[in-house]
Amino acid sequence: MTRALRRRVALSDDSDWTAAPSPVPAASRPAAEVLAELAAGIAACRRCPLGAARIQAVPGVGSPQARVMFVGEGPGFDEDHQGEPFVGRSGKLLDKIMESIGLSRAAVYIANIVKCHPMTDPTDPEKRGNDRPPSPEEIAACRGWLDAQIRALRPRVIVTLGAVAARVLLQDATPITRIRGRWRSYDPGEGAPPVLLLPTFHPAALLRNPDLKRDVWSDMKSLREELSKP
Ligand code: SF4
Repeated sequence: MTRALRRRVALSDDSDWTAAPSPVPAASRPAAEVLAELAAGIAACRRCPLGAARIQAVPGVGSPQARVMFVGEGPGFDEDHQGEPFVGRSGKLLDKIMESIGLSRAAVYIANIVKCHPMTDPTDPEKRGNDRPPSPEEIAACRGWLDAQIRALRPRVIVTLGAVAARVLLQDATPITRIRGRWRSYDPGEGAPPVLLLPTFHPAALLRNPDLKRDVWSDMKSLREELSKP
């Protein structure tokens, strides 16, 4: 880690992470460099109580050149232990869903709305089934990290996985059953260009209800069609 990066990481540990100095605007720097910087900042972040309970932060994974960014809700037990998003049963299913349209984990970027594991009992990160949805306060505290990642990546498409990710990014409480598969636009802020956004179901929902696979397959075909456009 360079001295400049260490300094930015140290600064990102306080609440005003947006003030981290950068001699060159993020938009004109390589995405890989900005994403690495953000990952280091997230690893040091304590902006909400999730930072104190986690085993490790889960910034995101994938290609800095990704045209597609998948966004889920937050890390669970396996993700907290491995430091990578979507590595449990849901993650394996997400890999298959991506493969069905010729995408791979290495070609896309995968991240979550919150970067640390929301636990029902934060004193016991070794307990399985200790998951809960992130609170509105935790989402608000963490949201800036995701937007900064989107601005660094500038993906062609964001695919939200599940109701929470869609509701947070679209600011729309319409049930996921009614908004999935409908193309929307997302403004990542700070003058960055808007990004096409496609809501679909979370893989965990498919594990609970395999009947939803038909809808997700329809959404993936729509995604494939969009990506095939020049
Ligand atoms: S969930 Fe987000 S805001 Fe909260 S400590 Fe983790 S990285 Fe920071």
